[in-house]
Amino acid sequence: TDTLGHAWALDWMERARAAVSAERIALIDLDRAIGDGDHGENMDRGFTAVTAKLATQAPGSPGEVLKTAATTLMSTVGGAAGPLYGTAFLRASKAAGDAVDGDGVVALLDAAVEGIQARGKAEPGEKTMVDAWVPAARAAREAAADGPVAALRAAAEAAATGAAETEPMVATKGRASYLGQRSAGHRDPGAQSTALLLQAAAEAAEA
Ligand code: ADP
Ligand code: MG
Ligand code: MG
Repeated sequence: TDTLGHAWALDWMERARAAVSAERIALIDLDRAIGDGDHGENMDRGFTAVTAKLATQAPGSPGEVLKTAATTLMSTVGGAAGPLYGTAFLRASKAAGDAVDGDGVVALLDAAVEGIQARGKAEPGEKTMVDAWVPAARAAREAAADGPVAALRAAAEAAATGAAETEPMVATKGRASYLGQRSAGHRDPGAQSTALLLQAAAEAAEA
Protein backbone atom coordinates (compact mmCIF):
# COMPACT_ATOMS: atom_id res chain seq x y z
CA THR A 1 0.00 0.00 0.00
CA ASP A 2 1.38 3.40 -1.00
CA THR A 3 -1.16 5.55 0.78
CA LEU A 4 -3.72 5.13 3.53
CA GLY A 5 -7.09 6.82 3.22
CA HIS A 6 -10.23 7.39 5.24
CA ALA A 7 -11.05 3.64 5.41
CA TRP A 8 -7.77 3.06 7.24
CA ALA A 9 -8.46 5.90 9.66
CA LEU A 10 -11.98 4.60 10.40
CA ASP A 11 -10.62 1.08 10.95
CA TRP A 12 -7.90 2.54 13.20
CA MET A 13 -10.51 4.20 15.40
CA GLU A 14 -12.61 1.02 15.56
CA ARG A 15 -9.56 -1.09 16.49
CA ALA A 16 -8.53 1.54 19.05
CA ARG A 17 -11.97 1.35 20.63
CA ALA A 18 -11.80 -2.44 20.79
CA ALA A 19 -8.26 -2.42 22.22
CA VAL A 20 -8.97 0.18 24.87
CA SER A 21 -12.16 -1.66 25.83
CA ALA A 22 -10.34 -5.01 26.08
CA GLU A 23 -7.54 -3.41 28.15
CA ARG A 24 -9.80 -1.22 30.29
CA ILE A 25 -9.09 -3.12 33.52
CA ALA A 26 -5.35 -3.35 32.81
CA LEU A 27 -5.19 0.43 32.27
CA ILE A 28 -7.21 1.01 35.43
CA ASP A 29 -4.78 -1.19 37.36
CA LEU A 30 -1.77 0.71 36.00
CA ASP A 31 -3.36 4.04 36.91
CA ARG A 32 -4.40 2.75 40.32
CA ALA A 33 -0.74 1.99 41.11
CA ILE A 34 0.61 5.49 40.36
CA GLY A 35 -2.46 7.68 39.74
CA ASP A 36 -6.16 7.79 40.53
CA GLY A 37 -7.30 4.66 38.70
CA ASP A 38 -9.49 6.25 36.04
CA HIS A 39 -7.38 5.98 32.86
CA GLY A 40 -9.04 2.80 31.57
CA GLU A 41 -12.49 4.22 32.18
CA ASN A 42 -11.55 7.56 30.61
CA MET A 43 -10.13 5.98 27.46
CA ASP A 44 -12.94 3.44 27.06
CA ARG A 45 -15.54 6.20 27.36
CA GLY A 46 -13.62 8.38 24.91
CA PHE A 47 -13.12 5.86 22.12
CA THR A 48 -16.65 4.52 22.45
CA ALA A 49 -17.81 8.11 21.88
CA VAL A 50 -15.41 8.52 18.93
CA THR A 51 -16.74 5.50 17.04
CA ALA A 52 -20.34 6.44 17.88
CA LYS A 53 -19.76 9.93 16.49
CA LEU A 54 -18.02 8.60 13.37
CA ALA A 55 -20.99 6.29 12.72
CA THR A 56 -23.17 9.38 12.24
CA GLN A 57 -20.75 10.89 9.70
CA ALA A 58 -19.35 9.99 6.29
CA PRO A 59 -15.80 11.32 6.54
CA GLY A 60 -13.97 11.35 3.20
CA SER A 61 -10.39 11.70 4.42
CA PRO A 62 -8.13 10.55 7.27
CA GLY A 63 -7.87 14.19 8.33
CA GLU A 64 -11.64 14.39 8.83
CA VAL A 65 -11.71 11.13 10.81
CA LEU A 66 -8.91 12.25 13.11
CA LYS A 67 -10.49 15.66 13.58
CA THR A 68 -13.72 14.07 14.79
CA ALA A 69 -11.65 11.84 17.06
CA ALA A 70 -9.83 14.89 18.45
CA THR A 71 -12.90 16.94 19.30
CA THR A 72 -14.70 13.92 20.75
CA LEU A 73 -11.74 12.86 22.90
CA MET A 74 -11.37 16.45 24.07
CA SER A 75 -14.96 16.53 25.32
CA THR A 76 -15.27 12.98 26.71
CA VAL A 77 -11.97 11.65 28.11
CA GLY A 78 -11.33 14.23 30.81
CA GLY A 79 -8.40 14.20 33.22
CA ALA A 80 -4.89 14.90 31.96
CA ALA A 81 -5.12 12.48 29.05
CA GLY A 82 -8.24 14.04 27.42
CA PRO A 83 -6.66 17.37 26.45
CA LEU A 84 -3.35 15.65 25.62
CA TYR A 85 -4.87 13.07 23.27
CA GLY A 86 -7.31 15.69 21.94
CA THR A 87 -4.43 17.97 20.99
CA ALA A 88 -2.41 15.06 19.59
CA PHE A 89 -5.25 13.97 17.28
CA LEU A 90 -6.12 17.55 16.29
CA ARG A 91 -2.54 18.22 15.18
CA ALA A 92 -2.38 14.77 13.55
CA SER A 93 -5.61 15.48 11.65
CA LYS A 94 -4.07 18.55 10.06
CA ALA A 95 -0.92 16.63 9.14
CA ALA A 96 -2.90 13.67 7.73
CA GLY A 97 -4.89 15.58 5.14
CA ASP A 98 -6.45 13.49 2.35
CA ALA A 99 -4.00 10.57 2.18
CA VAL A 100 -1.10 9.29 4.25
CA ASP A 101 2.09 7.88 2.71
CA GLY A 102 5.30 6.91 4.54
CA ASP A 103 6.32 10.53 5.06
CA GLY A 104 2.71 11.26 6.00
CA VAL A 105 2.93 8.79 8.88
CA VAL A 106 6.03 10.63 10.10
CA ALA A 107 4.29 14.00 9.76
CA LEU A 108 1.24 12.71 11.62
CA LEU A 109 3.28 11.32 14.52
CA ASP A 110 5.58 14.36 14.69
CA ALA A 111 2.50 16.60 14.84
CA ALA A 112 1.00 14.48 17.63
CA VAL A 113 4.24 14.67 19.64
CA GLU A 114 4.42 18.44 19.16
CA GLY A 115 0.83 18.83 20.35
CA ILE A 116 1.37 16.68 23.43
CA GLN A 117 4.56 18.50 24.37
CA ALA A 118 3.05 21.94 23.69
CA ARG A 119 0.25 21.14 26.11
CA GLY A 120 1.94 18.98 28.74
CA LYS A 121 5.53 20.26 28.69
CA ALA A 122 6.91 16.78 29.36
CA GLU A 123 10.25 15.66 27.93
CA PRO A 124 11.29 12.04 27.36
CA GLY A 125 12.25 10.31 30.61
CA GLU A 126 9.53 11.92 32.75
CA LYS A 127 7.37 8.76 32.71
CA THR A 128 4.47 9.94 30.56
CA MET A 129 2.88 9.12 27.21
CA VAL A 130 5.71 11.15 25.64
CA ASP A 131 7.95 8.13 26.33
CA ALA A 132 5.84 6.09 23.89
CA TRP A 133 5.13 8.80 21.27
CA VAL A 134 8.68 10.12 20.83
CA PRO A 135 10.32 6.76 20.01
CA ALA A 136 7.32 5.91 17.81
CA ALA A 137 7.83 9.03 15.70
CA ARG A 138 11.58 8.33 15.48
CA ALA A 139 11.04 4.72 14.40
CA ALA A 140 8.50 5.80 11.78
CA ARG A 141 11.02 8.22 10.32
CA GLU A 142 13.57 5.42 9.95
CA ALA A 143 11.03 3.18 8.18
CA ALA A 144 9.22 5.86 6.13
CA ALA A 145 10.94 4.98 2.84
CA ASP A 146 9.36 1.51 3.05
CA GLY A 147 5.87 3.04 3.04
CA PRO A 148 3.11 3.83 5.50
CA VAL A 149 2.39 0.26 6.62
CA ALA A 150 6.04 -0.35 7.53
CA ALA A 151 6.26 3.06 9.19
CA LEU A 152 3.22 2.36 11.37
CA ARG A 153 4.45 -1.14 12.25
CA ALA A 154 7.81 0.33 13.33
CA ALA A 155 6.04 3.05 15.31
CA ALA A 156 3.81 0.54 17.10
CA GLU A 157 6.75 -1.61 18.13
CA ALA A 158 8.75 1.39 19.33
CA ALA A 159 5.77 2.65 21.33
CA ALA A 160 5.39 -0.75 23.02
CA THR A 161 9.08 -0.76 23.92
CA GLY A 162 8.86 2.84 25.07
CA ALA A 163 5.89 2.03 27.31
CA ALA A 164 7.75 -0.90 28.87
CA GLU A 165 10.76 1.35 29.46
CA THR A 166 8.68 3.70 31.63
CA GLU A 167 8.57 1.02 34.34
CA PRO A 168 11.81 1.95 36.17
CA MET A 169 11.34 5.70 35.62
CA VAL A 170 10.52 8.16 38.40
CA ALA A 171 7.61 10.39 37.32
CA THR A 172 8.24 14.12 37.23
CA LYS A 173 5.06 15.17 35.37
CA GLY A 174 1.40 14.43 35.94
CA ARG A 175 -0.33 12.86 38.90
CA ALA A 176 2.26 10.08 39.26
CA SER A 177 4.90 12.71 40.11
CA TYR A 178 3.15 13.19 43.49
CA LEU A 179 4.53 9.75 44.41
CA GLY A 180 8.15 10.70 43.72
CA GLN A 181 10.47 7.68 43.97
CA ARG A 182 7.48 5.43 44.73
CA SER A 183 6.33 5.85 41.12
CA ALA A 184 9.27 3.67 40.00
CA GLY A 185 8.46 0.02 39.30
CA HIS A 186 5.14 0.68 37.55
CA ARG A 187 4.40 1.23 33.88
CA ASP A 188 2.89 4.59 32.95
CA PRO A 189 -0.78 4.14 31.97
CA GLY A 190 -0.74 6.84 29.27
CA ALA A 191 2.36 5.35 27.66
CA GLN A 192 0.60 1.99 27.67
CA SER A 193 -2.58 3.39 26.09
CA THR A 194 -0.44 5.13 23.45
CA ALA A 195 1.13 1.76 22.61
CA LEU A 196 -2.39 0.28 22.23
CA LEU A 197 -3.49 3.12 19.94
CA LEU A 198 -0.44 2.84 17.68
CA GLN A 199 -0.75 -0.95 17.57
CA ALA A 200 -4.33 -0.40 16.39
CA ALA A 201 -3.09 2.02 13.71
CA ALA A 202 -0.58 -0.55 12.43
CA GLU A 203 -3.12 -3.39 12.44
CA ALA A 204 -5.59 -1.26 10.49
CA ALA A 205 -2.88 -0.51 7.93
CA GLU A 206 -1.98 -4.21 7.62
CA ALA A 207 -5.61 -5.35 7.32
P1 ADP B 1 -5.50 11.93 35.35
O1 ADP B 1 -4.08 11.80 35.81
O2 ADP B 1 -5.96 13.34 35.34
O3 ADP B 1 -6.44 11.02 36.10
P2 ADP B 1 -5.49 10.02 33.16
O4 ADP B 1 -5.44 8.98 34.21
O5 ADP B 1 -6.57 9.88 32.13
O6 ADP B 1 -5.55 11.48 33.79
O7 ADP B 1 -4.11 10.06 32.35
C1 ADP B 1 -2.88 9.91 33.00
C2 ADP B 1 -1.79 9.88 31.96
O8 ADP B 1 -1.63 11.15 31.35
C3 ADP B 1 -0.42 9.56 32.53
O9 ADP B 1 -0.22 8.17 32.62
C4 ADP B 1 0.54 10.20 31.53
O10 ADP B 1 0.89 9.32 30.48
C5 ADP B 1 -0.28 11.30 30.93
N1 ADP B 1 0.20 12.61 31.38
C6 ADP B 1 -0.08 13.25 32.53
N2 ADP B 1 0.54 14.45 32.57
C7 ADP B 1 1.24 14.56 31.39
C8 ADP B 1 2.07 15.57 30.81
N3 ADP B 1 2.31 16.73 31.43
N4 ADP B 1 2.60 15.32 29.57
C9 ADP B 1 2.34 14.15 28.94
N5 ADP B 1 1.56 13.18 29.44
C10 ADP B 1 1.02 13.37 30.65
MG1 MG C 1 -5.98 8.94 36.16
MG1 MG D 1 -8.31 11.42 36.94
